[in-house]
Formats: sequence, structure tokens, C-alpha cells
Amino acid sequence: MQISTQDGAARLGRISTAHGVLDTPTVFPVHNLGDTGGWNTPRYWEIFPRIQTAMFNAYHIMSNRRLVRDKIRAAGGIHRFLGFKGAAFVDSGGFLNLNSKVETDQVSLLNLQEGIGADIASTLDFPCNMRLNQRIYDKIRKSVINAYEAGHIRKRKEMLLYASVHGNDSLLLRNVLRFLSKSGAFDGYAIGGLLPVRSDFRFVIDLIVSLRRAISEEPIHIFGLGGPLTIPILAYLGVDSFDSSSFIVCGSRRVYFVPGDREIRLKDMPKNDRLPCNCVVCRANSLEEIRRSRSLIALHNLWVVWSEIDQVRLAIAEERLEAYLRWRYSRNPLMRDVFDYAKRRLKNILR
Ligand SMILES: [Zn+2]
Repeated sequence: MQISTQDGAARLGRISTAHGVLDTPTVFPVHNLGDTGGWNTPRYWEIFPRIQTAMFNAYHIMSNRRLVRDKIRAAGGIHRFLGFKGAAFVDSGGFLNLNSKVETDQVSLLNLQEGIGADIASTLDFPCNMRLNQRIYDKIRKSVINAYEAGHIRKRKEMLLYASVHGNDSLLLRNVLRFLSKSGAFDGYAIGGLLPVRSDFRFVIDLIVSLRRAISEEPIHIFGLGGPLTIPILAYLGVDSFDSSSFIVCGSRRVYFVPGDREIRLKDMPKNDRLPCNCVVCRANSLEEIRRSRSLIALHNLWVVWSEIDQVRLAIAEERLEAYLRWRYSRNPLMRDVFDYAKRRLKNILR
């Protein structure tokens, strides 16, 4: 990863993949390929040609529902199967393995990721309940062993490999990362398991700050926290990429992202009102048409997520990310507290 600009802990970078260069911070929209509702992910890369990233879940593909795995292989890979030319991040889907009947191991996962043409792959992780210490060390150890194994048996050099890590305290996480980085086998690091504990923002911020301190050069990805409100604060902490399924989930619930502001249920929006957005979807469709279509709402929502990335990137380039966050969170007391805490934590480190 090449870093071009630094603003506090935040940075602008470039990551070369087999399907193009990624300008970071960036977001990977989650594609539900292989899931029961996988057909409802819109082909957003055709509507918004600038969005050329996608996050896939190996677990869903491995489960081979409707023979999706066989069809991807027959087509010659995930890009040809979908007609997608961007960067495909294939996550292990470890969190779905928790209650699953589909057995997998690191070797089978890596074979699948390499076989379907992933541009970025993450290692097999064993998510743990961050708040319970029972068996947590055992699960962390298993995730580290998997990452270590993957780093040594990977074959496709053009596929970037991210080690998936979990941890419930800062010191432990730092030690895990330092151990893995010594092997020199990884192109980046992905941290998971933060979604269930996201309301404890001090805990999440402390973990991310530890991670950034342990690893300065390689990219850091955070699983599952890529909503429009969280992207600015995570970028501020030095996170380079996120994945987001909120645009689809909210689309299904008929929840509309108001650009630069909040979420609103479309049924609460006054009938005669115009939509407060000028994206290609909102320009071409009436409020009623959008209200009826989960795909149209999802597409609009994704555009809002991507616009947030654009704003953050511009603010970093101008070295005024703090000013942007102050404005962005000025109407949201909780996010103001989150920002204040993050600022205090970073001040201790950056001075
Ligand atoms: Zn729109």
C-alpha cells in the first residue's frame, strides 16, 4: 500500500489489485451472492461505474445453494460469472460458520478463494463473543493458526491476503498482529467481531487504536461497520477500508439514507415531498417508485455511503478531517461523544 497523504492517523492510500487500483479509504459493498436472497443485490457497478469494489462471502458460495459454486467455477471465476470487473474481496464468512452445518477449514477456504479469482481474501476466523472470556483464547489461537497456515500455503501471488484477527483486549490484539506481521506473509489485516459490541464505542475505539499502532504500513479493514455515520470516525482512526451491507438491509426495510444526515423510513416522508438527493436513482424515479422498490432504495443508499467516502477523502487530502467530523456530527450527540473520545485517544498517541 502506498500512502500519499496523512492527516493525523487518517491517510489516503493506493492498493494495487489484479482488478484495478483502490484509492483508500474505500468501501466494499456486500454482495449476497449465494445467500438465500442473493438475487436481490442490485448490479450497482453498472449504475454507478465509479463503484468497482465488492465483498463476497465464501461461506455462502461454499454452501453451493442453487449450485452457485459450481456455476462460478464453470464460468471461470466470480468476475466472469457476474460480469463484474472491479476488486472482489472474498471474506471467509467465519461468523456464519458459528451455527452452520457447512464444515470448512483453512485449506478448503483458500482453494475456493483462489479458484474463484478473489482479488483480496481474508483468512478463516473464529469469531468470539467479545464480552465473554470463556473459550475466547482458544478461538483467537485457532484464528491465528489459520492465518499463519494460509500465509504459507497461498499460491496465487496476485491475490492479496488479509489476516483476520479478533481480540477482546488491546494488548492481546497488538501481540497477535505483531506476531503475524513478523511472518511477512500478509498484505493487510482485517478485524472482525466488532458489530455486536459497536454500542460500546470506547471499547471499539481502543481496539482500533491498538491495531493502528501495531501495524503502520499495511492496510487495515474493519468488517461490518461501514455505514455512512461510522465511516468518517473509522477513517479518522486510520482504518483504510470497510464493508457495508447497510444499504441493502435498509433497502429491504424501506429505510432511506438522507445525504449527510440520518436515516428515515420512507413511509414517514410526506407524500408530496421531493427526495433530498440528486443521485441518478432519485433523479430518474418518483418518491412512489422508490418507495416500492427495495433495489432502488438500496442503490440510492449505496450512493450515499460512497459520497461519504468522497467527503472523507477530500477532507484528508485537505488535512481538515477533524473539522469535517466536527461538522458531520454536530447534530448527533452520541457521535459527538464518540468523536471526542477518539480525539482524546489519538492525541495521546500522535503527539
Ligand atoms: Zn439518491
